[in-house]
Amino acid sequence: MLAKLKQLIKSFTLFELILGLKQTGKHLFTRKITVQYPEEKTPKSARFRGVHALRRYPNGEERCIACKLCEAVCPALAITIESEQRADGSRRTTRYEIDLFKCIYCGFCEESCPVDSIVETSESEFAILARGQNILDKNLLLAIGDKYEEKIAAERAEDAPYR
Ligand code: SF4
Ligand code: SF4
Repeated sequence: MLAKLKQLIKSFTLFELILGLKQTGKHLFTRKITVQYPEEKTPKSARFRGVHALRRYPNGEERCIACKLCEAVCPALAITIESEQRADGSRRTTRYEIDLFKCIYCGFCEESCPVDSIVETSESEFAILARGQNILDKNLLLAIGDKYEEKIAAERAEDAPYR
């Protein structure tokens, strides 16, 4: 009965509305922390893990030697690799795919790679707009690597003491 009466008084005095307005008033003149994305951006951690890339050596040769360590270590089973031996005896992938729907961006693939081939770039501005785009294939991964190589190399050099 008492609880009902309290509720009734609160309703008639607009108590909760006043509480809400008090909260709004408190923040009305404080510094705003929202940013106008994409024109403005918030700082990103140096260890941020974004979209993947496959890297090449400066002579254009792909780094990946198809050892499949990244595939084995991936906890989400997001990586699929097929490989074959070249005429010169070296081994290269014929298929390298990452399923972004499965990936949890743990960075294990990057850490396991003995030749710094698969990396997670600091790029966060990518989207999946159609069915199938969640699969990053070898050509796409190499293209991402080519596009961001300078940035990737600089970020890895900066990060070297922590590796
Ligand atoms: S970041 Fe983690 S989950 Fe994603 S592909 Fe690499 S190892 Fe797999
Ligand atoms: S990306 Fe690295 S770890 Fe994965 S198969 Fe190629 S060389 Fe091995």
